[in-house]
Amino acid sequence: AASKETLGFKTEVKQLLHLMIHSLYSNKEIFLRELISNASDACDKLRFEALKNDALYEGQSELGVHIDFDAESRTISIEDNGIGMNRDDVINHLGTIAKSGTSEFLSKLSGDQKKDSQLIGQFGVGFYSAFIVADKVTVETRRAGEDATSAVRWESAGEGDFTLEGIEKAERGTRITLHLKEGEEEFADNFRLRSLIKKYSDHIAVPVFLPQEVGESEEGEEAKKIPEAVNEAKALWTRNKSELSDDDYKEFYKHVSHDWNDPLVWMHNRVEGKLDYTSLLYIPAKAPYDIWNREATRGLKLYVQRVFIMDDAEQFLPLYLRFVKGVLDSNDLSLNVSREILQQDKQVDSLRSALVKRVLDTLEKLAKNEPEKYQEFWDQFGDVLKEGPAEDFANREKVAKLFRFATTRSEGQTQNTGLEEYVARMREGQKKIYFITGDSYEAVANSPHLEYFRTKGVEVLLLTDRVDEWMVGHLTEFDGKMFQDVTKGELDLDELADEAEKEQQKALQEEHKDLTDRILKALNNDVKTVRVTSRLTDSPACLVVGQYDMGGHLRRMMEAAGQ
Ligand code: ADP
Ligand code: MG
Repeated sequence: AASKETLGFKTEVKQLLHLMIHSLYSNKEIFLRELISNASDACDKLRFEALKNDALYEGQSELGVHIDFDAESRTISIEDNGIGMNRDDVINHLGTIAKSGTSEFLSKLSGDQKKDSQLIGQFGVGFYSAFIVADKVTVETRRAGEDATSAVRWESAGEGDFTLEGIEKAERGTRITLHLKEGEEEFADNFRLRSLIKKYSDHIAVPVFLPQEVGESEEGEEAKKIPEAVNEAKALWTRNKSELSDDDYKEFYKHVSHDWNDPLVWMHNRVEGKLDYTSLLYIPAKAPYDIWNREATRGLKLYVQRVFIMDDAEQFLPLYLRFVKGVLDSNDLSLNVSREILQQDKQVDSLRSALVKRVLDTLEKLAKNEPEKYQEFWDQFGDVLKEGPAEDFANREKVAKLFRFATTRSEGQTQNTGLEEYVARMREGQKKIYFITGDSYEAVANSPHLEYFRTKGVEVLLLTDRVDEWMVGHLTEFDGKMFQDVTKGELDLDELADEAEKEQQKALQEEHKDLTDRILKALNNDVKTVRVTSRLTDSPACLVVGQYDMGGHLRRMMEAAGQ
């Protein structure tokens, strides 16, 4: 066999390991969940690859995970007969972090333990969580279909480096041995492991075995043990809602999402008829650190007739719902469906429409029945949802119903007024939905443009998010009412002003024509026109943009971009 070599971890891995070990101290036991989750993924992947190449089963198609322990030597092992890894896989997956944006993520860390552990929770811990309880981890693995002599042993103390050596391994798959730290021996215990598997891995679709003593043991003889499946071993989404608890759903979420936080809401549906599928979709409680990263992975875990097909199937949800996680199990798609095929498949469009409707309906219900929870959702994902009207024209009204804004009537800058609410309290005679955009709440809330609206008792939406100007550009109307930027166009709110006011306006315009002409000249034609207005009450003057000109906020953004 090849000799042993030592390789260094990527810098990010070292940082992450350090952070994880410290921030997860009070939640150590999750290492088991993460390792079983990986073992289950490995079985899923083998089953998928074996669809095309039956030989990968090597005559053993019963997949499972075996857990064992030795209290005396303080070790726990987790062994699967899934896809396994070859040398390159091991180096790529257990020495680097392939996820894009890792360095960016790490650069955001503050050094404040509490804040950082919140952040790291969104990152997903995975394999490295083994080092929370172990001071040495050994991974022995062989990729399915490859030679028994091409197996590898990876070993590390979770500090700067790891070693690799070639070994022989008859059975395909991965065996991970944890050498528990002093003080962590409690985990090398049948009862403890059993309850952890029940608690964290009941939803895992392959059986998870633990040795169980059987029969009477003779004096002085070791008790006989045989492996016994501890978990339910049935894909969670195939089970009946009635037999699933909130905790079951939450644990499954952590398995599919790689997020450690509990989800905010979930939707579990079995659909039969024209389309035949089961979906289990989750809305996270916290936006992931890479929600604005274009390369970040997104999408659902796709199964066809219970067989895992791929992670991150993006085609089933639009970008503005990219925060949704979960599983889609279709009975209509073919088992040899690929990403390329998905892009053209008509079924995919129907599935996508159905899932979008489900998510939007769920959000609508949440907004209605649990406004506080909805507010949490909005605070995390509102900006993303605002991409909806541009991306999904057909659903724009439905999406817009879910929007929440700060307004001149709401208290402070919390975005909590919906458009339906706005429309319901529109002033008599008001035909438009008024808004103002800007960089900050202070800037817009104190804008002189709002004075007239205040005196008229007309509510104005205060839009300060980056996407807002773009969003109103695509939304244009809601419930038949046009959106109107208060800084644009005709100064005089024809519809809001009464007849007397209009007359007065005309008279004033005439009366002060001399003055406005002189101002226009003085400003050297830097402005298009100067008008007398009843729009202002406290300020002497304000600048107004033409109805079809670019808004101030967007203009400043373009200027900043050098245009
Ligand atoms: P994640 O599960 O989010 O991908 P992990 O840190 O848990 O991240 O695992 C990293 C990678 O290591 C996995 O994506 C997989 O490629 C590989 N891996 C880990 N455990 C196993 C295993 N038991 N069998 C095969 N590959 C594994
Ligand atoms: Mg994992």
